[in-house]
Amino acid sequence: MSLSTEHHEHRDHDEQSAAAVTVIGLGPMGRALAGAFLDAGVRTTVWNRTPGRDRELVERGAIRASSAEEAVAASGLTVVCVVNYGAVDAILRPDAVAGALKGRTVVNLTADTPDRARETAAWAAEHGVRYLDGAIMTPTGTIGTPDAVLLFSGPEELYREHRSVLDALGGTHTHLGERICRAAAYDIALLDIFWTAMAGFNHALAVARAEGISAGELAPFAAGIGAILPAIFTEVAAEVDAGTFSDEGSPVTSTASTMAHVIETSEAHGIDAGVMRAAEGLARQAIGLGHGAEGFHRVVELLGRQRV
Ligand code: NDP
Repeated sequence: MSLSTEHHEHRDHDEQSAAAVTVIGLGPMGRALAGAFLDAGVRTTVWNRTPGRDRELVERGAIRASSAEEAVAASGLTVVCVVNYGAVDAILRPDAVAGALKGRTVVNLTADTPDRARETAAWAAEHGVRYLDGAIMTPTGTIGTPDAVLLFSGPEELYREHRSVLDALGGTHTHLGERICRAAAYDIALLDIFWTAMAGFNHALAVARAEGISAGELAPFAAGIGAILPAIFTEVAAEVDAGTFSDEGSPVTSTASTMAHVIETSEAHGIDAGVMRAAEGLARQAIGLGHGAEGFHRVVELLGRQRV
């Protein structure tokens, strides 16, 4: 398996100018992708289920396709970015579109599950469509700038073939290996971190407000909590891979106790503490299984054991 990270600076502008891409899906992200291709001088054809979303792109030089079939036939490379893989199926699977895609490449930057990525790759293989899966890890405003982060998985040869055009999207992109589901799997794991963190942050703001602390007052201290996380992630990851669970100064017994304080304070204000109750439940489970002196990351193993 190879892991290669490519940087925006290395893009070959001449190759991009000679290239053509179709962008299907013109929500906020699809429009950002198409805009970045246009800025890089790539011949860009666009299509969206609901007409009218392409107006600004067409003014900037994009070619409007009148159907999905016409759109995919316009370029050797189609980038699709819609709400989920159900929408991808609705657009690409009709016979006329699938037929037009035969021998061409689809790069699917739609977010969904690893299973859906595998299914879509199987469908593509059956229909002679060359397929790369991908995930976008940063917001629309980053696309085409050094801050964009994109993940790809699938045939490395295909990735290399289209890399110079994909460079137009900016920032860093990483090919995570040939297994098609890897980009989606990374995406899911990273979204797991992001949304549980955001649930925690929003909950903290509600509890703080109930205690008379404004969001603005808490924010600098919240940022301080965010700043200690990268080093903790690195340490915990090394331990989890090594199968060790040292307490790093805070055994699970102590962790469960601080979690209980959050629950007690929240509920005293009538604020739901379901997310923290779930976390505390995991800590208590670890203690019940005799791991009370270890670190909270023991729960990684406990959660893994619950797999059916
Ligand atoms: P949405 O997730 O809202 O997707 C909107 C697009 O999906 C539109 O083109 C819409 O077409 C299309 N669509 C929805 N349902 C269907 C359907 N049944 N058939 C055909 N097309 C359909 O907006 P975004 O553009 O923001 O996101 C696109 C993808 O990018 C998502 O998977 C998202 O998770 C991912 N992403 C987005 C980020 C962001 O910051 N916005 C960041 C990282 C990833 P129509 O206009 O006709 O409704």
